[in-house]
Amino acid sequence: MDGPSIEEAAGILRAGGLVAFPTETVYGLGANALDEEAVRGIFRAKGRPQDNPLIVHLPKGELPAGLVLALPGSAQGLIEAFWPGPLTLVLPKGPKIPTAVSAGLSTVALRSPAHEGAQALLRAAGLPIAAPSANASGRPSPTRAEHVFEDLNGKIPLILDGGACEIGLESTVLDLSCEEPTLLRPGLITLEELGAVLGKTPRLGRGVMQPLAAGERAPSPGLLHRHYAPRAEVILVRGEGEGLVQKLKDEYDGAENAVILCADALMRRLLPRSCRGLGADERQMAKALFAALRGADEEGFSRVILQGVAEEGLGLALMNRALRAAGFRTIDA
Ligand code: AMP
Ligand code: MG
Repeated sequence: MDGPSIEEAAGILRAGGLVAFPTETVYGLGANALDEEAVRGIFRAKGRPQDNPLIVHLPKGELPAGLVLALPGSAQGLIEAFWPGPLTLVLPKGPKIPTAVSAGLSTVALRSPAHEGAQALLRAAGLPIAAPSANASGRPSPTRAEHVFEDLNGKIPLILDGGACEIGLESTVLDLSCEEPTLLRPGLITLEELGAVLGKTPRLGRGVMQPLAAGERAPSPGLLHRHYAPRAEVILVRGEGEGLVQKLKDEYDGAENAVILCADALMRRLLPRSCRGLGADERQMAKALFAALRGADEEGFSRVILQGVAEEGLGLALMNRALRAAGFRTIDA
């Protein structure tokens, strides 16, 4: 990601085109957030459902005028504490945001990414950039430029390659437009960390960690759609200790052409079954998860048996992605 490639990308964005670029969370597929036609291109390239709004990315510094109607007091402290960084805030939408960005909602999601290349692109373009994850809709989010290429080759003119994304899971999404701050998507910035700044732990939105009931209203449209799923069927196994190891073995032994994705520490106990280690701790597992789901497809496995973790701290984000990748098919040890 050198100067000339960032300049070229900025030129494409200013001319109404699409560019994929790295952030600290996952790769984004960007367009000029103020240009409705450009933004429609994102939905076409990804095959994204029209009702799923986009996050608007901003350079660090002053919030540009016209993007939000008002900044609630609670937003100020969070922006000071976590921007630039992996926190997206949902706020009352200002007049400059086209309908396509907010998918018709009266709110808009904003974030300032910490990734230096993303910041350089935002500065060079001189525009707010609307960007969802740069995967084909429904697939695991891309954490390397190669993943974007796999999904969007031929559909977009340029991918900026910044190597592997540091975090590997999408940003924490917090809704500040309602009476009580509500977590719509867990991420690296945890409920506890948000609570420490807000003075009160945010509510967990309905549908974030369990399926919505039929006909139940979703607090965020993204909660209605299938996400993060490889072609292989994913089964999530939850539990601890010996019981967990035994269930992982049972699931594997009862399936054909399966692979187990688990913490490194469990691998030895599962051999000689096919398993792939996601890392030594949750930070590493978060970074490796999406690439491992894609890798299972590449290796031709038809079933992925995924080890669950405790739904605390970063584990809440890992389990949110795991539950969705599994379409909420879980087995408790
Ligand atoms: P992605 O761009 O793939 O990271 O997805 C963006 C996420 O933010 C999706 O889950 C959206 O549903 C959510 N989102 C974006 N804008 C809003 C909004 N105005 N209100 C609620 N959720 C939003
Ligand atoms: Mg996405």
